[in-house]
Amino acid sequence: MDKDHLDKGKLLEHDFDHAVPEEITRDVAYYRTILSNVIMIGAPNEDWILVDAGLKRYQGRILHACEERYGTKPPAAIILTHGHFDHTGSAKRLAEHWHVPIYIHEKEMDYVTGKKTYPPGDPTVGGGMISLLSGLFPTKPEHLEGLVTALPKDGKIPQLEGWRYVETAGHTPGHISLFREEDRMLIAGDAISTEKPESSLAVFFPIQHVFGPPAYFTQDWMEAENAVKKLADLEPDYIIAGHGLPMQGETMKQELKKLAENFIDQAIPKHKRH
Ligand SMILES: [Zn+2]
Ligand SMILES: [Zn+2]
Repeated sequence: MDKDHLDKGKLLEHDFDHAVPEEITRDVAYYRTILSNVIMIGAPNEDWILVDAGLKRYQGRILHACEERYGTKPPAAIILTHGHFDHTGSAKRLAEHWHVPIYIHEKEMDYVTGKKTYPPGDPTVGGGMISLLSGLFPTKPEHLEGLVTALPKDGKIPQLEGWRYVETAGHTPGHISLFREEDRMLIAGDAISTEKPESSLAVFFPIQHVFGPPAYFTQDWMEAENAVKKLADLEPDYIIAGHGLPMQGETMKQELKKLAENFIDQAIPKHKRH
């Protein structure tokens, strides 16, 4: 493969025609990379921001997807739901390309500036390919020192009117979700998932369910449960999670409610329940 070539060259010198965004509503779209979603908030021809930045070396594909929607107009900022490698991998290259700031919750700052590493993935939590591979995933995310700023404490998101962030720690200490009251749109990050991340099959054949956070990297299950209850209380009409397809409608609402009520049984791996 020509990964190194891509790293050195211009972001768009490869053919990324397959990298296209999918519109969810007039001003929200997403692009599904092989492992995780990146979300674009803003209608075409308007100001916009990017939420999450996929795996390392996806900058070319992400940029292609964004340019399909916005042309060469850069986003006002990149917001990260948390610092895991599958959400921050291409943040540095994109921020440098666009000359835009990156924001993350202050409790994630140490993890994205090289001061702390996340605990290693836990391959005992499920039987699928992803969890077997997860031990090989980097726990050290991209080093974003000099590019990344802590979000303000009041829940406001810089450059983004009408939205606020909700603290949904558990999966990681400073994990956030984004919510817009107006159309009850929830960008959940890894606080929940709409595919079963421990099953390799689900990566290729997504099932419409609401699941708990990806188990292999979830650090605090008590907090993770509170986070899901918080999200259920928001009563979202749309959910876009970090992994899986966007969901809306009655089934989604019932699924989220059920997950919040039965979090221990549904989300926490059996040997992790105390
Ligand atoms: Zn994560
Ligand atoms: Zn993730």
